[in-house]
Amino acid sequence: MPKTSPAPAAPRIATCECGGLRLTVTAPPVHVHGCTCTRCQRSTGSVMKLSAWFPETGVRIDGPFTTWHFAGNDNPALTACFCPTCGGGRFFRTGDYLRGCIGIGVGSFADPSFPAPDHIHWWPDRPHWLGTPLGPELLEGN
Ligand SMILES: [Zn+2]
Ligand SMILES: [Zn+2]
Repeated sequence: MPKTSPAPAAPRIATCECGGLRLTVTAPPVHVHGCTCTRCQRSTGSVMKLSAWFPETGVRIDGPFTTWHFAGNDNPALTACFCPTCGGGRFFRTGDYLRGCIGIGVGSFADPSFPAPDHIHWWPDRPHWLGTPLGPELLEGN
């Protein structure tokens, strides 16, 4: 009996706010997580960073981007990349963390049907008014 291969996933497209940076993803996410640590609050300007991780081979990057390397001990290999014009479209090159993957901010997909996070890191650092979501596991740290 011939082996059937899975249907190719429809491409998902993430863009920055001005549209200059565009990431086209043809693979399903291998991991989706949120983080409410104070560092992620600073990097997003919001209450939670929500990231989806894809195999590098399933991501095409079009448009210019600037990189920034966090110089601390926490995930030192992680490099943030974002649109030099509007600062949006943030994605991450991973180094040792989920090697071979690119992390993309879920909000850049502007897709309400995007898969929910598996878990949320640093839940105790969330803003006091943020309610408990149903579904994701809530972790006290990494
Ligand atoms: Zn932009
Ligand atoms: Zn965080």
